[in-house]
Amino acid sequence: MAAAVTLQNVFKVYNNTPVVNDLSLAIQPGEIFGLLGPNGAGKSTTIRMITTLTQPSQGQIFIEGFDVMKQPVLVKQQIGVVLQQMSVDVDLTVWENMEFHGRMHHIPNPRRQREIAEWLEYVELSDRRDDYVKTLSGGMKRRLQIARALLHRPRILFLDEPTVGLDPQTRRRLWEIIKGLNQQGMTILLTTHYMEEVEYLCDSNFSGSGIPNRIGIMDGGKLIELGTLQEMRHKYGEGLLMKQQGDRWDYHFFPTLAEANAHFEQQPNKAGMMVRPSNLEDIFVELTGRNLD
Ligand code: ADP
Repeated sequence: MAAAVTLQNVFKVYNNTPVVNDLSLAIQPGEIFGLLGPNGAGKSTTIRMITTLTQPSQGQIFIEGFDVMKQPVLVKQQIGVVLQQMSVDVDLTVWENMEFHGRMHHIPNPRRQREIAEWLEYVELSDRRDDYVKTLSGGMKRRLQIARALLHRPRILFLDEPTVGLDPQTRRRLWEIIKGLNQQGMTILLTTHYMEEVEYLCDSNFSGSGIPNRIGIMDGGKLIELGTLQEMRHKYGEGLLMKQQGDRWDYHFFPTLAEANAHFEQQPNKAGMMVRPSNLEDIFVELTGRNLD
């Protein structure tokens, strides 16, 4: 089966500095792929290149087999894009924003009207359809962006930091929408610096297509780790013993939580120590010596 998204040795150089540095990756149809990394890692630049908004300095990118540089129009038909910046027009109503996008994509009536209504229903904005976008909350605007990105029936949805700046409840609601779309078979690539977001959305037990969802950890323009959450935890260790050393913590990974606990039990002095299951943030710290934020 052809990959939904393929990057081959992709570079993006700004001011002689590679901000995306030799990135190669293949995302399978139906996967939710989470690109995790701290601010400045190169995640947005990667999404911008994949979605034809900026050209790679070097390397090749294919979407459903189409070359993003040579066939941008065909690529744009395959993709829906939700960027960090609010791209909806706040001086238009919810419906007018959808209508404008539908016309841009030449979706004929009556299908256009029907599908606008369906997507607004899906993101629970039907009752706000005639309200100006400037009157919506941040979470509602983000839901409108998602509805709009889906209107031309893309095969792949790109979400760049979809829940940044949203309160926890709104974030959770968006996660349900994203997960629901994946359950219907949509391929999703999302970037985030929220560990819980990838842990929730890219949990391989929950893939819509039956294939495991994966996570890519990016730092300094490079993909420094790639795999499912389970694979990563298995590789680095599922149990963690934390030891307080002055004002910092030392982390020791153990293959299992039981082994971390057994080691803990053997310590004569347990003060300043704790055991817990490892998480993605621990793996990131282990890889880079820094926290995600
Ligand atoms: P992330 O999305 O992971 O936070 P970005 O892709 O936005 O990272 O940025 C990666 C690096 O590229 C940052 O150091 C940023 O300052 C730089 N960068 C992004 N866009 C530009 C640009 N248009 N010109 C120069 N530098 C840029």
